[in-house]
Amino acid sequence: MTIHLPMAPVDLEFQVTRNDSPMPDAEREAILADPPFGSVFTDHMVDICWSEKGGWHRPRVQPYGPIPMDPAAAVLHYGQEIFEGLKAYRHPDGSIWSFRPDQNALRLQRSAKRMALPELPVDYFLQSLKELIAVDGAWVPSDPEMSLYLRPYMYAKEAFLGVRAAKKVAYYLIAAPAGPYFSRGVKPVSIWLSTDYSRAGKGGTGKAKTGGNYAASLVAQQEAAEHGCAQVLFLDSVEGKYIEELGGMNIVFVHKDGTLVTPASDTILEGITRDSILQLAEDDGHKVERRAVTLQEWRDGVESGDIVEAFACGTAAVVTPIGQLKAKDFTIGSEDQPPGELTVSLRQRLTDIQQGRADDPYGWMMRLDA
Ligand SMILES: *Cc1c(COP(=O)(O)O)cnc(C)c1O
Repeated sequence: MTIHLPMAPVDLEFQVTRNDSPMPDAEREAILADPPFGSVFTDHMVDICWSEKGGWHRPRVQPYGPIPMDPAAAVLHYGQEIFEGLKAYRHPDGSIWSFRPDQNALRLQRSAKRMALPELPVDYFLQSLKELIAVDGAWVPSDPEMSLYLRPYMYAKEAFLGVRAAKKVAYYLIAAPAGPYFSRGVKPVSIWLSTDYSRAGKGGTGKAKTGGNYAASLVAQQEAAEHGCAQVLFLDSVEGKYIEELGGMNIVFVHKDGTLVTPASDTILEGITRDSILQLAEDDGHKVERRAVTLQEWRDGVESGDIVEAFACGTAAVVTPIGQLKAKDFTIGSEDQPPGELTVSLRQRLTDIQQGRADDPYGWMMRLDA
């Protein structure tokens, strides 16, 4: 009889199967010169299995390709899924780094807890990034404005239509070269205020990085696009009064006296970009407030001149100035206003660290290719 240990010791030995027809160098270089966001993927992927009996097992690197999936796989029916997003940057000396990946590993664990999925050990998460870079390092662009976007995710793969947490789960890591997220670069964007839809509810999954939150945001995002806006802003679902965040980015306001204010609530995804920027600002002597912010406060603040800048932040778009907020019956700001001064300087500070042009006093960077 075999005895299965539910908490088998973590075995970091990945089994590597090389892709025997990787993309030819010239073709890859052409893509890296102008990568489309999220539609071309590298030659390999990582996957790790989890089962209730065997725990985490069979870590491997294999050629990128379709995943065999049972039509009854629980994720296809009940959406038990979580993900992360981070980037690999090539520094001027050619080395490859990622930014605070331990924070992504910990957030994946928090998301897992909320979605009744198993927690992937941090070491496994970090090792999966290194394993992929070991085979696909050539996919990390050398242009500092570009990066290799890393997408770890986990889903319920057990074939079972009953409603309970799956007993079989898969973790995957795929990667896609990425240029600037917004095609207009750091020019201010317009955002649309969603009043008909909420992204997350009280006691719901707003704090977890799970596909369902995005599924819930898509009609609102379509509405935003119809009004010529790049992103949608959500309010709290209880009173429709408090600012939460954009579909996939956090929001920060800059006051005249240099104070930075960002909404705090347990329905908001806690961004690592936002946390890092606020730390940089705080250490520069700026006051930082994490608290409830009403839409009215934004409107009044812009009118009185007390709120002088607003920006969105997240891994994909880094820091993006918000030019205007469009709503059904009012508008805040204007499309053609220049990006805020502090917004631009914080973006520069952060990207200098990420891209290896500045010292890393916080130890935020982790090398992936050594
Ligand atoms: C991922 C995400 C963010 C940004 O998080 P970062 O760690 O900064 O990339 C913000 N809001 C939502 C809803 C997200 O999914």
